[in-house]
Amino acid sequence: MCEFCLKHGEGKKWYLQASNYSDDLLSDIRRRKFIETFFTDTEALARDVQRLEQLENIPRLIKGIVKRIITGKMKKVHYGQVVPIEDIERIFRFVNSIVRVACVCRHINLGREERYCYGVSLAPDGGKLGEIIRGLDKSFLDGPDVVGMERLSKDEAISALRSHEQEGLCHSVWTFHAPFIGGICNCDRSDCLAMRCTVTHRIPVMFRAEYVAAVNPDLCNGCRQCMRVCQFGAVSYSVSNKKAVIDQRDCYGCGICRSVCRKDAIHLEERSKAPAAASLW
Ligand code: SF4
Ligand code: SF4
Repeated sequence: MCEFCLKHGEGKKWYLQASNYSDDLLSDIRRRKFIETFFTDTEALARDVQRLEQLENIPRLIKGIVKRIITGKMKKVHYGQVVPIEDIERIFRFVNSIVRVACVCRHINLGREERYCYGVSLAPDGGKLGEIIRGLDKSFLDGPDVVGMERLSKDEAISALRSHEQEGLCHSVWTFHAPFIGGICNCDRSDCLAMRCTVTHRIPVMFRAEYVAAVNPDLCNGCRQCMRVCQFGAVSYSVSNKKAVIDQRDCYGCGICRSVCRKDAIHLEERSKAPAAASLW
């Protein structure tokens, strides 16, 4: 069980607790302000990315301290956890509205609008989160391919997330001042700033899922499709056995390898029951 489940989930998976999506949490002015700034001050985020690159050039000891400070701060303000599709479906069962918006990271990295982020709310009309986003100067949300906030039915949303999996994107939930969860993102290492921060720079702001993947060697035909899509470098290939092998210490439990495996040779299991990975987040 991860620390967020212990802190915000009463010992259960915290992102399956409806109270963490409650509009009541948006009465907090600091939280509202953070959301407004997050969506409008994209230059500040771009500057943070540049600082991350510079961090690689400072002495190791100082770098270690700075990294711990960043992770500590992000755990309070804006962190994510990887969530496989079956748990996303569970979230969609209790939320009452889903909107799709342009991704801030892709806006910064690629300079264009790509609709990979989903706002979720218990309120049927997007609630206070929708109200905040609608009230912003959201020029970046209105690019040529984007119609601002796009409302989706639960079926449309789950089908869109399934197609993101086929593109190799990994799902994650995100807080805006913990424990409020406002969004579900679909990330890859090249375009997602949080994944880059976590995996490339080794500053965790996006944490592992409650699951890890495992290969059934009896079913695996060694096609290596799973290796191609794993964003975390957790899959290798045994030349001698002609089978894929997953190192559960590196696995984030996203389940993307499973979705591309035509032999149904990969399953997810509870992280807490996998000795090699149980204490890794
Ligand atoms: S995608 Fe499936 S069949 Fe192909 S190597 Fe991976 S586990 Fe084996
Ligand atoms: S091995 Fe599979 S479940 Fe684990 S991180 Fe890679 S793609 Fe995700």
